Amino acid sequence: MRYNPVTPQIVEQLMSIVGEANVVLEPEKMEVYGRDETSEAMWQHMPEVVVKPENARQISEIIKLANREIIPVTPRGAGTGLAAGAVPMLGGILLSLERMNKILEVDRENLFMVTEPGVTTGEVQRTARAEGFLYAGDPCSAESSFIGGNVATNAGGNKAVKYGVTGRHIYGLEVVLPNGEIVTLGGKCVKDVTGYDLVHLIVGSEGTLGVVTKVYLKLMPLLPFVADLLVPFDSVEKAIKIVPTIMTHGGIIPTCLEFMDSMSIKAAELYLNQKLPYSDAAAYVIVEIDGNTERQVEEDYETIGKLCLENGGLEVFVADNPSAQDRIWKARKCYAEALRMISPVYCMEDIVVPVSQIPRALEAINGIAEKHRVKIPCVAHAGDGNIHATLLREDRDEHTWHEVKDRVLDEIYREVYALGGALSGEHGIGAKRKGAMARFLHPAQIDMIKSIKKALDPNLILNPDKLVDVL
Ligand SMILES: Cc1cc2nc3c(=O)[nH]c(=O)nc-3n(C[C@H](O)[C@H](O)[C@H](O)COP(=O)(O)OP(=O)(O)OC[C@H]3O[C@@H](n4cnc5c(N)ncnc54)[C@H](O)[C@@H]3O)c2cc1C
Repeated sequence: MRYNPVTPQIVEQLMSIVGEANVVLEPEKMEVYGRDETSEAMWQHMPEVVVKPENARQISEIIKLANREIIPVTPRGAGTGLAAGAVPMLGGILLSLERMNKILEVDRENLFMVTEPGVTTGEVQRTARAEGFLYAGDPCSAESSFIGGNVATNAGGNKAVKYGVTGRHIYGLEVVLPNGEIVTLGGKCVKDVTGYDLVHLIVGSEGTLGVVTKVYLKLMPLLPFVADLLVPFDSVEKAIKIVPTIMTHGGIIPTCLEFMDSMSIKAAELYLNQKLPYSDAAAYVIVEIDGNTERQVEEDYETIGKLCLENGGLEVFVADNPSAQDRIWKARKCYAEALRMISPVYCMEDIVVPVSQIPRALEAINGIAEKHRVKIPCVAHAGDGNIHATLLREDRDEHTWHEVKDRVLDEIYREVYALGGALSGEHGIGAKRKGAMARFLHPAQIDMIKSIKKALDPNLILNPDKLVDVL
């Protein structure tokens, strides 16, 4: 597909749509919009212009203009993505949703919140909590990512073991389609089978099928009692094997079930500049339980703690107040920043396998790391079978790095598919995993994705060069 450049006339039209102050052309101000949290330079590219609309109508006009002129449009939330999904790889218009940052409604009768896409996930969580509700979407990036970005990537996160990923909480969306039409899909009904499930076609579509301009989120009653357990283990094998055991033998669904290996623990300690308990342990397992009564939560964590101690846990630390819980989660959530202190360039993966296969997947990753002499610290949303395996570049030159990285990723993906898994559990495909997805998905599945894209976006203007090569 040949795209046209953004000319001064087009800039003028964009200014008349969103106002001069909301069009950015200065390279130094656009620089931040040319990358996301994927650290490699190959996944960075400058837009030709950045526009900051404030409503769906403006977005509709921008998209109609882009369609007439055949210019790529890349939607962007907070830019915390890890797949170069919001990076304008072909230049064109970068559509930043940052000004659409209002919570529109908390509906206490139906347990819904309606928001614009540019509200941070953390603000959604806090607003729900202040009203006595839980919004259960909880990516580790919650303080910075936007709810619209979470919808577009179908973000996972810590509470997905019990409550499910973002898509589970989304019942309605307002979307600007690639032809500029504004449509509301779904809404506040908790069931609706009137036609195809178009809400969940948009969820996880990474800005390639429409721009999300309003989100209808389901809220849940907030369970008042929460406890977190931190369990150090003296062997990685014992620690990871406890995960399927907890999921099947405890009779309890934990809210969160996380894993950290020793490299990740050491990195967190260095980054936080504070001593962590048993920081020379081979691994940590972190478990969160919530419930309606203190007694029930105590019984549940005693059951899980006992299972851990019988299966190689060294000690069980119980955090039953917010400040102790915060200390545990800081260590888990600082993973990305902590690794950057060891190796500023890295490649973070997020493979997923059925939970019963998580010990085998981790063993395979560690074997591949050893074989290729690459450090691959791992943390995992282990209760979901989702492992973040991060290849560290360290001091390798560019050429060696790409060579070794490609080989290691190919071997990891092969193992994962042999175990019944998939190459991305939550970060998505974006530009970064497009080639890999084409190799590992069935050709008929790739054809379905291409057909949907072509049907909705025949000029291929919305976030082109992501997910699949259509032409
Ligand atoms: C430290 C750290 C921790 C993380 N932890 C998690 C985690 O636990 N779970 C998880 O799933 N991810 C995690 N991520 C990845 C990232 O935060 C998520 O993918 C998040 O959902 C992206 O939101 P964003 O607003 O930053 O979107 P962006 O990065 O701006 O965009 C991501 C994709 O969504 C599209 N998009 C954004 N907004 C819209 C919109 N309104 N309409 C249409 N398309 C849109 C973009 O085009 C792009 O394809 C983490 C990242 C970091 C840096």
